[in-house]
Amino acid sequence: MDAGAQLLRARVEKVTVRNGRVECVHVSEKGYHRSIPTHIFVNAAGPMLQKVSEIIGLELPIFHERHPKVSMRDTLGILPRHAPLLIWEDSQRLTWEDEDREILAGSKETQWLFNGLPSGVHVRPESGPESQNILFLWPYDLEPVKPTFPVPIPASYPEIALRELVTMLPDMKICLERMPKPVVVGGYYTKTKENRLLCGPLPIDGAYVLGALSGYGLMAASGAGELLAAELSGSTLPEYAPAFTLERYENPVYLKMLQDWSPTGQL
Ligand SMILES: Cc1cc2nc3c(=O)[nH]c(=O)nc-3n(C[C@H](O)[C@H](O)[C@H](O)COP(=O)(O)OP(=O)(O)OC[C@H]3O[C@@H](n4cnc5c(N)ncnc54)[C@H](O)[C@@H]3O)c2cc1C
Repeated sequence: MDAGAQLLRARVEKVTVRNGRVECVHVSEKGYHRSIPTHIFVNAAGPMLQKVSEIIGLELPIFHERHPKVSMRDTLGILPRHAPLLIWEDSQRLTWEDEDREILAGSKETQWLFNGLPSGVHVRPESGPESQNILFLWPYDLEPVKPTFPVPIPASYPEIALRELVTMLPDMKICLERMPKPVVVGGYYTKTKENRLLCGPLPIDGAYVLGALSGYGLMAASGAGELLAAELSGSTLPEYAPAFTLERYENPVYLKMLQDWSPTGQL
């Protein structure tokens, strides 16, 4: 702000592009409209990256996964408050009571619960030592989806995630009998296929992107922001800058690398 920036809380509705160059950004909020003449527009709309991109007639090579997480009180103190973030990396099978198994295995919608299931349950204490809250999630359904809000989360999610958690922390089984009231929130990971963020110019003069930060956007925010700032201010770019541009997908060497890409590193 000291440098002259102005924060405007409003929705980008339209961008005027003339002769291949950004000219004006049009925003609105609660019936209030404003047009901002500018030659620079950065699309950093998170899960709405594609939607905002369509405003300027571009399609980005991205997709979205839904990622819910559960906050629950661990009233019995099963997870020590000093525990670090724990991640279960083996695939597994969930255990069910006989009665539940019969019902769930008999329904087409729930038969998948009896297949070998993916790894990846996360758990960690939430807040300080005096809190009883724990946070856990299990990304078992990673089908690409179109982001909608509020994020639709199956009512069964907390129990299914808790069952996976029991594999890692067997004492949690007691919570299956009487589950403390869970609070479930969720969002979307916006990703490129190789799970590498997008940062740099778009093929419209003055338009830029910073997004597809997947599940590591908080950790990567400072570096990605610095890279974009260098781009916008015409500073010398670090040598790794091309690895994050949209243009990388036109580089035959990069495309070849993509064919042999190792696991994306998503936890
Ligand atoms: C459950 C969950 C847990 C996560 N945990 C972690 C973690 O532990 N560590 C980590 O590093 N990352 C984590 N992430 C990922 C991280 O949250 C994202 O990578 C990061 O928020 C992406 O930042 P962003 O700025 O691209 O998008 P966002 O943070 O979503 O910001 C996009 C902004 O654009 C605005 N916007 C959208 N459309 C418009 C429009 N038309 N006009 C104006 N503004 C618009 C939105 O209102 C929003 O403010 C998690 C994500 C989820 C879903």
